[in-house]
Order: sequence, then structure tokens, then C-alpha cells
Amino acid sequence: MVLKIYSTLSREKETFKPLKKGEVNLFVCGPTVYDFSHVGHAKTYTQFDIIIKYLRFKGYKVFYLQNITDIDDKIIKKANEEKEDWKKIVKKYKEAYLEDMESLGINSVNKYANATDYIEEIVSQVERLIKKGYAYKISDGYYFDLSKDEEYGKLAKRKVLEGEDAVSRIDENSEKKNSGDFCLWKFKKVGEPSWKTSLGEGRPGWHIEDTAITEKEFGSQYDIHGGGLDLIFPHHEAEIAQMESISGKKPLVKYWMHTGFLNTGKEKMSKSLGNFSTIRELLKTYSKEQIRYLFISTNYRKPIDFSTETLENAKNSFERLKNICEKIVDDKKINEKYLKEFEEQMDDDFNTPNSLQVLWKLVRDEKAKGKYQTIKKIDEIFGLKLLEKQNLVVPKEVDELLKKREIARKDKKWEESDKLREEIKKLGFQVLDGKVGQELKKI
Ligand code: AMP
Repeated sequence: MVLKIYSTLSREKETFKPLKKGEVNLFVCGPTVYDFSHVGHAKTYTQFDIIIKYLRFKGYKVFYLQNITDIDDKIIKKANEEKEDWKKIVKKYKEAYLEDMESLGINSVNKYANATDYIEEIVSQVERLIKKGYAYKISDGYYFDLSKDEEYGKLAKRKVLEGEDAVSRIDENSEKKNSGDFCLWKFKKVGEPSWKTSLGEGRPGWHIEDTAITEKEFGSQYDIHGGGLDLIFPHHEAEIAQMESISGKKPLVKYWMHTGFLNTGKEKMSKSLGNFSTIRELLKTYSKEQIRYLFISTNYRKPIDFSTETLENAKNSFERLKNICEKIVDDKKINEKYLKEFEEQMDDDFNTPNSLQVLWKLVRDEKAKGKYQTIKKIDEIFGLKLLEKQNLVVPKEVDELLKKREIARKDKKWEESDKLREEIKKLGFQVLDGKVGQELKKI
């Protein structure tokens, strides 16, 4: 069976053929660590987790790399607001991010690369761009000259002229040659973190972090680059401009994959719009399996409306599926027909909603053999713990904490109730606050 991937670059589903047979180098843009991650992040990272697990299921040796943006204007702003050292802000939110990923069952990443560990590589990239005439210096830093790159805009399908519009007018400075030119290296400003380098004291621009990391880890070309739709322009476009100008090799990436947004109302959930719920908040009401089910039931390229209704629907469907699966007896066989059908759907650009339907069909098929082992295989990708029995034996200690928490909640002592939740978590149980009160799940 042939795997097809929709690539944003061609706007088509293409047959997947990695650069090196059987091996896949894959990079997904990681978070800027200045705040807790929200449910929009959960969508993108869970959907990629499933994509990577499927690639591994297909037999590919995947190296999944993610960057951590650990120096950025937003981090500096947050550090100033909180009167805290920027490194402490980074440490706190990076740890929180990794904890959130673990809570969501996202464990497919091979390496998290901190941008600040690649300053040498960043400087080397800027120096090569200067040497080749793609970068120039003005009062506050080095910039990429868009007029030197005829192909700029090929990913987002924007022409150079359109590069002059508001969306691309980042890194404002009236000395810039073209208003869409983006910053590669920012010279030091008072009170800001900086590195002493041959380019002058300063810090990296955002786009160059990723190409420096991927060049070091993968070389100048690799297989798959992922991220949310919002990153196509200018971020991913800038990555192409930088790396292809430096190396002269095209394409930087064979397959560009982008996830659709998680929206609240009509708008994308985002920190800057303030319309977000954090992952840790959501995990107080829904289990990671219920959340994963929600993301599986929508194609990764499509948007999801974030609402109680959507969440409740996903929760109810998931619980119904799990109830059936838990009762299935292992006959030690695989149902090849259903597994093949599942694979056909996943091979079609990772069509998880259709492959979920195949799973439903399998569990409802009274005559089908090999249900248990087939579900087990599928669930190694989905991570829904469908076969794990929930007949909970609640230890006395946990029971006592639950009772204390019940009282704390009645007295509206939310801080105490959250502390007790953490204590219960340490003992291996998740407490969900649903409509019927506290509900316990095994982690
Ligand atoms: P950020 O830290 O905001 O740059 O986001 C990290 C990753 O999460 C990027 O790949 C974003 O595209 C993605 N992302 C951010 N907000 C959303 C959202 N509302 N829905 C889906 N993905 C998102």
C-alpha cells in the first residue's frame, strides 16, 4: 500500500518517498516557552504524534525533531512583566510544556532542541547569507533581502509584491530595503539577553533558529516539516528562503504538512487573543484519551470548533467505544481485512476520522475474528487504551484524599482542591470533575 501525503508546497497529495529509503527525518515547530500551552497546541502536537506513530507502524525509522524557542521578544516581555530572570521563565514553561505533552500521551519526539544551544550554527548561517549577498546590516541587526530571492512566496503562494503587505511587515525598521525583509540577527538592546559573537553582540531572529537546528541535525535537506497553518507565512516561507539560499539545494523539505486550527467561535485559539484554555485546565475535566479521541475524529488539516458540545460528543463516543472494547476476548489472531482497511485510510494522508470508522466497524462486526489483537495494533498509534480494563481498585489513601477533596470543593477551597488533585496524580490516578462530581481514572 502506498502512503500519500498532502504537501502544502504542491497543494496535492503526493506519494511518500523519503530521501533515504526506509528513513524519515521530520521536524515540527515547537512552542515558544513563555506561558502554559493551550488546547490549540494540544491539537497540533497530538495529531503529529499520531502521524509519527503511524509512520513507525509502516516500518519507517523516524527521527522526530522539535525545537524549543527559548529566546524571543515574548519571553523577554514576560520576564520584564514578572520581574523575573528570562532563564527562569524559560525553565518553568519548558518543564510545563513537557509535562503537558506527557499528560496527553505524546511520547514520539526523539529530540527537543533548544534554540540557544545552536547560537554557533545560527551565526554561521547568517555569515554565509551575508557572504552570498542575501543579508545586509542596518542599525538594529542583520536582515534577509527579499528582493534577492525570486522564489520567495512559493510555499504560501504569495508574490514578492505581496510580501510588502501588513502580514509580512515584521521586524519594523524604516532602514529596511523591502518592508517584508525579516531579521536574522538582532543587535543587543539594553536589558536584553545577548550573545557575544562575530556578528556583534545580540540574539537570533526567530526563523533562523529552525534552519540552524535542522541543518545541524539533518543537513540542508530533509523529508517532512510540520506545524500549524499559521506558520506557513512568513515563518516557513522564511525558512525556505534562508536554507535554500545558503545551500543552493532545493527543496529544503520534500513534504510540508500543516494542521488546521482549533477555533473558539470563529477565531483561532491563541495566547495573544486571550481566548484560550490551557491543556492542564482541560485535563481537569477530560481524560487524555477523551481529548485524543476528539483530535482523531477530525482530519488533521481541518479545523475543530472548541466547545463543550464538541468535547462532550467526543467523550461520549470514546466511552461507548471503550466499553465495547474492554469486553473483547483475545483470540490471538489479527483480522487482516480490517487492518488493511485501516491502513488504506491512514495511507490516504493520515485520514484518522475514516480509520476510526473502520475501528467502529470492526468492533460492531459480530462475526469478525481477531478483534483484540487488531485493536491493540491500531491503538499503539491512537493511544486510547481501549483494551485496558477500568475496573478500578481504589487504594485507601486515594479514597481518603478524594473525600477530603469533596469537602474542599463544597467549601469552594479551589487551591486546596487542586493540591489534592496533584497528590492523587502522584498515586497514579487522574480526577476529573464532571457533571456527576469527581470521577477517577487510572493514569
Ligand atoms: P506557538 O507557540 O504559538 O508558536 O505554537 C506552537 C505550535 O502550535 C505551532 O505549530 C502552531 O501553529 C500551533 N498552534 C498554535 N495555536 C493553534 C491553534 N489554535 N490550533 C492549532 N494549532 C495551533
